[in-house]
Amino acid sequence: MNFLEDLEIRLEEALKIPTDCVGCYRYCHINRWSSDSTYCHTGIYPKLISANITEDNQFFSKDKKIAKVYFRHCNLRCVYCYDYALHHENYLDSNGKISLEEYGELIYHYFLNDEVKAIHLINVDHLIPHTLFAITYAIKKYGNLKIPIIFESNGFAFRPTIHFLRDLIQIYLMDFKFISSDLSRKYLKEENYPEIAKDTVFELYNQVGDIALKQDTLQKGLVVRLLVLPNLYKEYYEILDFLKAVSLNIGIWISSKYVPSGIVPKKGIYQDINQLPNQEEVRTIFEYAQSCGFSWIFLE
Ligand code: SF4
Repeated sequence: MNFLEDLEIRLEEALKIPTDCVGCYRYCHINRWSSDSTYCHTGIYPKLISANITEDNQFFSKDKKIAKVYFRHCNLRCVYCYDYALHHENYLDSNGKISLEEYGELIYHYFLNDEVKAIHLINVDHLIPHTLFAITYAIKKYGNLKIPIIFESNGFAFRPTIHFLRDLIQIYLMDFKFISSDLSRKYLKEENYPEIAKDTVFELYNQVGDIALKQDTLQKGLVVRLLVLPNLYKEYYEILDFLKAVSLNIGIWISSKYVPSGIVPKKGIYQDINQLPNQEEVRTIFEYAQSCGFSWIFLE
């Protein structure tokens, strides 16, 4: 069986998932092909927020252009979400809705543009069958997978669902949010997040393995991003300890870009994270990652 035949069979299976959706650990069991009354507010039509070609200047490459494709709604409820209103409010409006074919055309359009060196899909954990359809569509039309696809994950997809993307994604960028159940319950509304996120790391690492670079451009691999929230540095030490036991060649991205957002400034219960992270703390976490021996660490 060739790759395309395998992809067709895989797609047929994946498109059954939303008929009784267990696309993630919310287990909505709703037919998303006929309803978007789900936890992630997304049925058959993904809602596109933006699709831009940009000079990356970040982790993928210093000077190459990538296409960033950002979708609406989410299967998590981080209370500090930067785009909280966009993802979790007014979900009945249909702004940005695109069909599966339009999603496929978008990927194909970037395949045709020689300037674009990678496609970065943002906020797609609730859109895995849709994404598999779109990539398959573009491959069939173009003839092959022309450029790397970067899949940004919140760590909360269902492992068998994300397994459908094997061989199609070259770089996973996963946000590992918390490793303790208490913090996950408080800030994500999901106490099981840590175990699921660990399982996601294993799945993503099995798929793409260690990071590989060529002339300062990331070719493949798993990168885990830690967005540092104030006063929680021990949490990130524990995440790094977990990751180093998996592989020291998992890429580590330490981000100091947290700003209190979402419902954090509005509710007293979240006052402990209603402040910017202490840069000294961020530095300490970076140095801890270095002392662990990770081969690739990116600090922003
Ligand atoms: S992907 Fe969406 S509809 Fe499916 S189980 Fe998760 S939250 Fe529910």
